[in-house]
Amino acid sequence: MPLIELKDVSKLYGFGDATSVALDEVNLTIEQGECVAVMGPSGSGKSTLMNIIGLLDRPTHGDYSLSGRHVSQLATNQRARMRRDRIGFIFQSFNLLPRLTAIDNVALPLLYKGMSPAKRLRKAWDMLERVGLGDHVFYYPRQLSGGQTQSVAIARALVNSPQLIIADEPTGNLDSNSSRLVMELLSEIHKTGNTVLFVTHNPELTRYATRVVYMQDGSVRYDEQTKLGEVGRYARQVMYAVPETTEDDDFAGVSAIMPVLDKRASAGAAIKAKLPRRRKKAPAKKAARK
Ligand code: ADP
Ligand code: MG
Repeated sequence: MPLIELKDVSKLYGFGDATSVALDEVNLTIEQGECVAVMGPSGSGKSTLMNIIGLLDRPTHGDYSLSGRHVSQLATNQRARMRRDRIGFIFQSFNLLPRLTAIDNVALPLLYKGMSPAKRLRKAWDMLERVGLGDHVFYYPRQLSGGQTQSVAIARALVNSPQLIIADEPTGNLDSNSSRLVMELLSEIHKTGNTVLFVTHNPELTRYATRVVYMQDGSVRYDEQTKLGEVGRYARQVMYAVPETTEDDDFAGVSAIMPVLDKRASAGAAIKAKLPRRRKKAPAKKAARK
């Protein structure tokens, strides 16, 4: 049974002439244990997709099953409970409470579970240690760097032991070193068995993914399996197609990328011919063995 199954999921905003289609009959199946990078231009529906998968929002049409349950039909409080117990969110803007220390921020989600204060703090401390902030537990968000702040947010997302982590542009406000730190953390979480979905504009970060989904105009435009450590195929073409970029460049957006993809896609078979890694060596070897 897949963890996530979207069938013809659409999301419309507004009414009548002012209706806009944020998601257009999306079909997407994600198995437990995948690490999926979601890319696409601004406004292509990435956040809408994350919010629906994360039970923060409901589809206008279509069906969404999470762990085999048709969640679109659940009552609001059932959805809230499922979200709390199964899903951890990480946002671009960190969303920590500024008046609470790191440990109190991390312990907050446990409050709703009726856990004793001592137990909550112990668990939060453990989580902060796990993300490398064991000596910053009593710092306030304003006393932490961007990377550290996002690490606190990751600890908070993990404190309920969710099976699914959803990160919407988690490195969007970070420099390249902090981005790497945050991605390494997400990658560790993935390796310990969690399913991770993250939105990024940076093709370089698809190295952390086992799959890359490219959105455009509310639809899934491309969907490819990738090896951990390798940049996605389309993302790679774009990296090499855009001159004078370095590993540290965080592209302004895939908006710059999509026109390149368009051209390549219309070239059809030419794409494959341009990918030397896919060439097979096997026949030559067999001949040699004879
Ligand atoms: P992305 O995350 O890829 O930038 P979004 O999912 O945020 O894209 O938005 C997809 C489309 O839906 C955009 O055209 C956006 O303007 C529209 N949209 C998103 N949220 C709302 C909303 N609350 N009300 C109206 N339109 C929205
Ligand atoms: Mg977004």
